[in-house]
Amino acid sequence: MVTTDSIKERVPLGRLTTFGIGGVARYYLRAATAGEVAWGAEWASARNLPLLVLGGGSNLLVADEGFPGLALHISITGTNAVESVDGVDLSAGAGESWDAIVERAVRSGWSGIECLSGIPGCVGATPIQNVGAYGQDVSETIVRVRALDLSTGVVVEFSNPECSFGYRDSRFKRGDRGRYIVLDVTYRLRNGAPPSVRYPELERYLASRGIDAPTLVETRDAVLAIRRRKSMVVDPTDPDARSAGSFFVNPVIPADTLSAVERVAADLLGPDAVVPRFPATDGHVKVPAAWLIERAGFQKGYRKGAVGLSSKHTLAIVNAGGGTAADVVALAREIHQRVWDIFGVALTPEPVFVNLSFDV
Ligand code: NAP
Repeated sequence: MVTTDSIKERVPLGRLTTFGIGGVARYYLRAATAGEVAWGAEWASARNLPLLVLGGGSNLLVADEGFPGLALHISITGTNAVESVDGVDLSAGAGESWDAIVERAVRSGWSGIECLSGIPGCVGATPIQNVGAYGQDVSETIVRVRALDLSTGVVVEFSNPECSFGYRDSRFKRGDRGRYIVLDVTYRLRNGAPPSVRYPELERYLASRGIDAPTLVETRDAVLAIRRRKSMVVDPTDPDARSAGSFFVNPVIPADTLSAVERVAADLLGPDAVVPRFPATDGHVKVPAAWLIERAGFQKGYRKGAVGLSSKHTLAIVNAGGGTAADVVALAREIHQRVWDIFGVALTPEPVFVNLSFDV
């Protein structure tokens, strides 16, 4: 049980994030149960303090000045698997490591999340931005999200449609941003079904190893290998992995913006230039942010003081050692501005900015 004595003061947040950047939290509490989460939220609210919900820290950029309120570290653990005719309902506490859940599912022969191997962070973050990769996302398997409603103090449950999932999006990120704290999530997995391999990069990797009917384990291993190649697996020994993963969301743009991008690309790269694009909803297309950033003149490994771009992936801003949040924001603004000036596309940062804004 937590009490006022459980609250720590002036806790450095940098070491709780994969960026390794950020000042101190004025107050900090680790909450291991739904009741403790509610107690912490109430404690902060009674003192009019802002609340920072902390999970795996893999998608956060914390201000160098730190956070003036309560950092509530969600460490609710525990899993429960219930088999049914439809498959297996695997529930996990919000503080469980996401990759440990994927590993367990793959090991047990349960399919549905195998392509989401190696993604850092905790279970609680997965419904927020409908975490996805390599052609799969969690909206395909989530059947229930239990959350604390901070506006009422009541625990509520959402079915899949009630989460309003979209591409890297959900109600928790949009209209209800900041209203709910996810407590646990249930994924409906298929027992004994084959893995989902529908992403060309993954297909190519497996084919190059002569695997034409991959198992779940082979699919997980392939995704991990691909991610590792791009330093997209958290690894304390890899300086390119000291990041918040992809820094910008891949933009989804309307047809007239694409035409403008194509005209610029032809001027810049010659008449045969092809702008990569993938179909999205409502006649829009998704254009890889990394392509725009590289064509705007930023190469892998670009350095600006103590921060830069990963030497393996243009989309990741890395802390090369001793970098500050101000350094990251300055580089991100420079990239944003140049892509906007050249292509007329406004990139949106993906990480959550804590006590910091990204106005350009
Ligand atoms: P990538 O594989 O170089 O792809 C860049 C962009 O092209 C992505 O938007 C991707 O769409 C799209 N794309 C590539 N092949 C496609 C196809 N056959 N059909 C439709 N769209 C296609 O991207 P990356 O940065 O190395 O990331 C690898 C994977 O991890 C991607 O799936 C990416 O979305 C995912 N990722 C997710 C998060 C997150 O959930 N927050 C963060 C970082 C990376 P998709 O985005 O639809 O795959």
